[in-house]
Amino acid sequence: HLDRIAQIDPAVHAFLHVDTDGALAAARAVDEDVAAGRPVASPLAGVPLALKDVFTTEGIPTTCGSRILQNWVPPYDATLVRKLREAGVVVLGKTNMDEFAMGSSTENSAYGVTHNPWDLDRIPGGSGGGSSAALAAFEAPLAIGTDTGGSIRQPASVTGTVGVKPTYGGVSRYGLVAFSSSLDQGGPCARTVLDAALLHEVIGGHDPLDSTSIDAPVPPVVAAAREGAAGDLRGVRVGVVREFSGEWYQAGVISAFNRAVDVLRELGAEVVEVSCPHFDYGLPAYYLIAPSECSSNLARFDAMRYGLRVGDENGNSAEQVMSLTREAGFGAEVKRRIMIGTYALSSGYYDAYYGQAQKVRTLIARDFAAAFENVDVLVSPTTPTTAFPIGERVDDPVAMYRADLCTIPANLAGTPAMSVPAGLSEQDGLPVGLQVMAPALQEQRMYRVAAAYE
Ligand code: GLN
Repeated sequence: HLDRIAQIDPAVHAFLHVDTDGALAAARAVDEDVAAGRPVASPLAGVPLALKDVFTTEGIPTTCGSRILQNWVPPYDATLVRKLREAGVVVLGKTNMDEFAMGSSTENSAYGVTHNPWDLDRIPGGSGGGSSAALAAFEAPLAIGTDTGGSIRQPASVTGTVGVKPTYGGVSRYGLVAFSSSLDQGGPCARTVLDAALLHEVIGGHDPLDSTSIDAPVPPVVAAAREGAAGDLRGVRVGVVREFSGEWYQAGVISAFNRAVDVLRELGAEVVEVSCPHFDYGLPAYYLIAPSECSSNLARFDAMRYGLRVGDENGNSAEQVMSLTREAGFGAEVKRRIMIGTYALSSGYYDAYYGQAQKVRTLIARDFAAAFENVDVLVSPTTPTTAFPIGERVDDPVAMYRADLCTIPANLAGTPAMSVPAGLSEQDGLPVGLQVMAPALQEQRMYRVAAAYE
């Protein structure tokens, strides 16, 4: 995989940092266990992985795709990283991402764009475009992403790979640099459903260092993926979300999705249409809640504690250094969100914006609850379009936000959802994703359906 990275990453630019020495040392340690006849730490021991650069890694740079964290080297590993290392997984390096995970194309990285291996002139999705591109370009068989509004599932969809957003609290956020704390969730990315399940069981589980971590066992996703692979979905009720169609959806995406639903039916699933009337309000609610939380979380980048410091040689005050550093260190999208969030949280506007958005969030959670009284899983396209050309939406933030139309409700409700490849669009020959959603802590349902479909 290191050879493959050296060969192809100059064209793809999935990686911000390749940890050659660390990867070889981790791989050798597994080899030594095998040679000595010792049991290996997990089924994934020795398997290489690409890690989104939003998780802290001891002694290895962590930038979150931002200039403000250039050259920052964390003193500790995120819990997820510790679990990967303990499982013998070989971390190859850190992958490119939209700055602080804000974006849907990886074009908001301060360190250049990542190219979609299917067509180098197109985006690999975002914010975790580096991780999905690394999988699609065969630079790594496993990757880690984070999904606040779709940043695992949308990149998976547009690169023809698998991406899973676990139940909120199912994977520790300790050492995951915070964007929107009530939404952020790390999760597995892979090229097959079973690989994602194996990785899910390695990274999941309770962590006392994360106060929102769920104190419950990881759902039995590996068994579910194996069961699903038998291809029998008799007795499984599948709901097609009516609201996820309409003017923003490409015809090629809708027809690939309809073919996928036909396959589920052929495998024995009972398919019904379901209405979730508040899902249409997910996007505006998310784009108030996420910026509000980000405006608070990103206050910690104050030029004193981490990374970049600008202007402290000229007798400037601490406030001036802070302001100069944030001006130089944050990109346009991050600044836009800090301003929107600060506005939405200010007294006088709080009830009108943030308060309303939180009410919408509750209504969306109720839509899910009502739907899951009648069906086992919900399905939809993962994204309204296939991978769009690099540059197409950079000047139109709302068009960029629309990439998240189908993914955001699960984030707002805290429920699990995944994207599995659903063939190619007949319009442009690019990958389409099938999204499968389940109730909280019922990940096994979506893994079973996705594995059967795959
Ligand atoms: N595209 C969404 C955003 O820009 C999703 C981000 C994410 O899931 N990290 O906020």
